[in-house]
Amino acid sequence: MVALEEFTGGKPVAEGRWQAIIDGQHVDALSGARLDMVSPSDGQVFASIPRCGAEDINRAVKAARRAFADGPWGRMAPADRGRILMRLSALIAAEHETLAQMDALDVGKSIKQARADITVLSRYYEFYAGAADKTGGETIPLPGGFTAMTFREPHGVVGAILPWNSPTQMLGRTSAPALAMGNVMVVKPAEDACLSAIRIAELALEAGLPPGVLNIVTGLGEEAGAALAAHPDVNFITFTGSPEVGAIIQKLAADNHVAVTLELGGKSPQIVFADADLEAALPIIVGAITVNSGQTCVAGSRLLVEEAAWDRVVSAFAERFGQLVTGPHQGDYDFGALINAKQRDRVKRFIAGAKADGVAVLAEGKVAPDAASSGYYVPAVLFGPVPVDHALAKQEVFGPCLSVIPFKDEADAISLANDTEYGLAAGVWTRDIGRAMRLARKVRSGQIYINGYGAGGGVELPFGGFKNSGHGREKGLEALKEFSATKTVVINHGI
Ligand code: NAD
Repeated sequence: MVALEEFTGGKPVAEGRWQAIIDGQHVDALSGARLDMVSPSDGQVFASIPRCGAEDINRAVKAARRAFADGPWGRMAPADRGRILMRLSALIAAEHETLAQMDALDVGKSIKQARADITVLSRYYEFYAGAADKTGGETIPLPGGFTAMTFREPHGVVGAILPWNSPTQMLGRTSAPALAMGNVMVVKPAEDACLSAIRIAELALEAGLPPGVLNIVTGLGEEAGAALAAHPDVNFITFTGSPEVGAIIQKLAADNHVAVTLELGGKSPQIVFADADLEAALPIIVGAITVNSGQTCVAGSRLLVEEAAWDRVVSAFAERFGQLVTGPHQGDYDFGALINAKQRDRVKRFIAGAKADGVAVLAEGKVAPDAASSGYYVPAVLFGPVPVDHALAKQEVFGPCLSVIPFKDEADAISLANDTEYGLAAGVWTRDIGRAMRLARKVRSGQIYINGYGAGGGVELPFGGFKNSGHGREKGLEALKEFSATKTVVINHGI
């Protein structure tokens, strides 16, 4: 076991035995059951977490409810809520390196990426801290002696069910706007990576967040996650994860008529025209599929290339893919291990299946010599030309695997870009601004980047999917609407 006390100044972790946070207290599951935490970099158990169940979710929801409305959070002035979130942002910044080390160990992601995630996390609380006291309603002109106005009110208890790929960013993205709007939360982080969520909840208490406002209940999806989605006293659910589980959550919440935001997967295209600045595009496109080992919802996993530039583009990408190295999270490698053995085997099956189907491999990367054979490493693979109806062109691999597909002209590029069941993000690479704008309007995707991909974490940018990528919008000021409901008040005062 790796001792983790160093990450938390000696508390509350004893030899990697972590606890959930309910009502401001460190607690075990009522059943006493636990789950092992495995480091993807070497496949070794390094800690354990409580395996919470429905009874633990229930006590967390009760604690959250007590903190809401007439409780300390409900009565607090919005400006004071903002001050607490700002303090939390500062505490995270002060603990930046230890949080990054913790996340890198937990997720297997490279330490460079983990550091970038913590910077974004801190920014989430800073951004929404500033919004807490600046979000009001409107007045509506009415004839006949009426005055109408709206208030933006918190939903109440927000349940958040989160994935493992960017645990800190996901917690910041959901909890910062939800708390800024006055909600209370029960968070079920992913069982594969949740240590940073526990630490952030500790820091939130230190920042002055009243007990019960942010509860972290660790455990399995089918147990704690399903109990949270189905809980009758939860008022809103935000889910980030796979489309399959998203559908389950939506059905569970439907029985209580509870609204759900779903942030699901993607098969995002990078569309490269012959006039693009290839030198500028290449590192960004490579980064978009290798960041987090390809395990991001916005992974740019399809490279659509104008036929006129095929040879030039493909040879440049093949050269770069041949140099890519995956290795342990502490090293200076291009990316780290995949999250677990199941995910590694799934990605390997995609790759083996494509090879067996005769899809050409243009280049393959390497595994670092110091990578443990017990770790979950998969080197980068560049496939192309990938037939447009092949699984590699349609399905989310969630690994470092890029499919190159040729297109003839602008109309063909738009049609290919839209030819999946997803619609989360897209990149357009061209010097022709008119063409870029036409694509921006015609590609059905929640975010479109022109001559770039991503914007430093994109905290300020509304984000969410079309089609099977989900519904609802988080990030930016839009999230404040998502995490609140409009109440209309009409006064009949006569003329
Ligand atoms: P997942 O759907 O398996 O798990 C996500 C969360 O749901 C975890 O906390 C898990 O414990 C929980 N869960 C699983 N089964 C459940 C059930 N029956 N009831 C309630 N909760 C349950 O997803 P994952 O494997 O953790 O993440 C990979 C997927 O997430 C990919 O499809 C990826 O694209 C997507 N993702 C999307 C975004 C986004 O913002 N759109 C961000 C990250 C990941």
